[in-house]
Amino acid sequence: MPELPEVEVTRLGISPHLLGKNLQGAIVRESRLRLAVNADLSAQVAGQKLEQIRRRGKYLLLDLQRGSILIHLGMSGHLRVLPQDTPVEKHDHVDLLFAQDTCLRFHDPRRFGVLCWLEEADTHPLIARLGPEPLGEDFSGAYLHAQSRQRQIPVKAFLMDAHQVVGVGNIYANEALFAAGIDPRRPAGRISLARYTLLAAAVRVVLEAAIQQGGTTLRDFTRPDGRNGYFRLSLAVYGREGQACIRCGKALQGIRIGGRATTYCSHCQH
Ligand code: ZN
Repeated sequence: MPELPEVEVTRLGISPHLLGKNLQGAIVRESRLRLAVNADLSAQVAGQKLEQIRRRGKYLLLDLQRGSILIHLGMSGHLRVLPQDTPVEKHDHVDLLFAQDTCLRFHDPRRFGVLCWLEEADTHPLIARLGPEPLGEDFSGAYLHAQSRQRQIPVKAFLMDAHQVVGVGNIYANEALFAAGIDPRRPAGRISLARYTLLAAAVRVVLEAAIQQGGTTLRDFTRPDGRNGYFRLSLAVYGREGQACIRCGKALQGIRIGGRATTYCSHCQH
């Protein structure tokens, strides 16, 4: 599943090819995504210039002169910038057609993604309720500490709640808690400011490392076959249940928190 780093790298990968270009229209081959693609998408976007591409959590917002195209990659989505006559493959559901023979093609085998036209994206419920960006200025140890007082939920579930902070997926929550030495089961309201400061820094480090690693894939966004997908990260705990902790050598524990696979070291994380 694409996580925040893959979405950010997608934004970086497609932006140079599209910014400032005018849209000519859209081709919708399959409108049944997680939200239905607007029946009048082509008419809505035609003639408008793409002014910027933003990311909010795992959503991309293609801001046109009036309104935005909201895109989410879902479980299996990809975006590619291609010449308009590039042969269509199965699961190529939507083409956004730009000037200069440019096409932004949305491919999504499992169709949990989103591509829709919104006149007011920032007030749409999917966007308006999102918490701060983990790489933005509003995210800090002080913020996490203030938000978590009186909360009994496990800190890992708290960290993955998009109302608190957006885009900290399961892999990154596991890794950041290990880096900060925090037991993922600990009630969120009982963690000190000093430890939340370590955790906020760890979240930034793991996300930025993944984005940097994804930088090597930027050219793939213009290749029809460039579907190498998701990053191979060097992970300290995620997926390593029963293996040796890289710090102390003891076997890592595997549990479930909020239904999500959780791996941690009972010796190094308190
Ligand atoms: Zn350990």
